[in-house]
Amino acid sequence: MTESEEVRNTQAVRLASEPDVDVVIVGAGIIGSAIAYQIARRSQLRVLVVDKAPGPATGSTGASVAISRCRYTVPEVVRLAYRSQLAYRSWSDFTGLREPISNYTQLGALWVFDRTVDQLAAESKRLHSNGVAVEILSAKDVLDRWPELDLCIEPIDFGAVAKHQCRQGEFFLYEVEAGIADPAGANADLVAASKREGVDVRFGIGVADVVTDKGRVVGVRLDNGDEVRCGLVVNAAGPWCNQINQMAGAQKRWTLTPTRVQLVLREWGDTDPRLPITFDGSTDGCYRMERSGEQILLVSPEIPSFMEATKNPDDFRISPDRECVEATLAAFQHRAPGVRHVGTTTGTCGLYTINEQDSHPIVGPSEIEGLWLANGFSGHGFKLAPGIGAMMARAITGVEAPYDPDVPDDLFAIDRTPLATSGGVFA
Ligand SMILES: Cc1cc2nc3c(=O)[nH]c(=O)nc-3n(C[C@H](O)[C@H](O)[C@H](O)COP(=O)(O)OP(=O)(O)OC[C@H]3O[C@@H](n4cnc5c(N)ncnc54)[C@H](O)[C@@H]3O)c2cc1C
Repeated sequence: MTESEEVRNTQAVRLASEPDVDVVIVGAGIIGSAIAYQIARRSQLRVLVVDKAPGPATGSTGASVAISRCRYTVPEVVRLAYRSQLAYRSWSDFTGLREPISNYTQLGALWVFDRTVDQLAAESKRLHSNGVAVEILSAKDVLDRWPELDLCIEPIDFGAVAKHQCRQGEFFLYEVEAGIADPAGANADLVAASKREGVDVRFGIGVADVVTDKGRVVGVRLDNGDEVRCGLVVNAAGPWCNQINQMAGAQKRWTLTPTRVQLVLREWGDTDPRLPITFDGSTDGCYRMERSGEQILLVSPEIPSFMEATKNPDDFRISPDRECVEATLAAFQHRAPGVRHVGTTTGTCGLYTINEQDSHPIVGPSEIEGLWLANGFSGHGFKLAPGIGAMMARAITGVEAPYDPDVPDDLFAIDRTPLATSGGVFA
């Protein structure tokens, strides 16, 4: 580290008197472990990560559908998603692990939305200028590639399905390099890479309280009674983030709601087609193949009753509701009528934390000195994690590193005005 970098480090992490470590990160999900790795690969700061779970990926990350795509409304978010996708696509180089568990499977992503060709041309220009490879496909192009699909763009009213009249779209956006990674594997890889860089990562230890002194956060109290003093606490507790913020009296500006999201896993026959990731504008659900090619994962339509707010992230129903499974299968049948239904259907549920105001996260210093936040990622935290880790690590250390996104570190600052979104879960 150069002398000026060292000065910046001490400016960002104003050390509490006799700290045990410089930074404590609460939560070793994909976000906490990405932040830890990104700090460690660019500084000598002493980082401790604690997670109350017995191992990685037991929270949001383990349930993630793990789609990486870059079509966002805000250009900076496009660039953030793109740089993060590059990290996932070059995972061994990014993590420095010779044989990481995760790798990237490029599937392409088709957006079946109601857009005019002029609107798509503007979107395509915006995405291209931020590095993303996209094509505008005509209905014929799409059906030549995937004849099993139907290209209806009329929203489905699930209260009056019998009245639904299909209306076919003419042009569609296709993100060529969109794909999926292995969420639990990527999380474990980041933990391994962090440890290699000297981070102390401890599972099975929860944070019971945030310790403050004269209005400043100076450490955490662990659930075994130990106190760890530090210069900075980072809240990366996923759906539990509100609990940590409440301990410190922080973050009352944004409404962050842990939300139960329902997934249906449907068996896939040997002879079934290799479909692209499909974002379904008729239902705001989405579908993607599992990496094994033996199942397709269906995310339920975005209907409020299927996306239940959850007060206690330790207590929610893991099995999807029958009504939701039926509606999700029907929505998929509507989108892919050329695919026969074979074999068994199962499902699961996970929690993600919706930022009710703009579906974008809060990243950076809270209003309480010594507490930084990486909260409220809605359905975007997996794909953005490498870049989010970089933004926070860069702000803390002042040091750049390969794969860093070209976006301001305060893009998701707590005092920002809500960012633009194209609406709903797709931001
Ligand atoms: C069904 C579903 C589908 C999704 N699909 C996508 C997708 O396709 N693409 C995408 O980009 N994103 C997707 N997401 C969102 C993405 O998975 C999340 O945004 C991301 O995983 C959040 O990571 P995290 O590290 O913040 O949270 P988590 O993975 O939940 O990690 C938080 C950690 O904090 C720990 N913790 C909590 N409280 C304490 C405490 N008091 N002390 C110590 N540790 C604590 C927990 O044990 C947990 O391990 C999806 C999420 C779900 C649920």
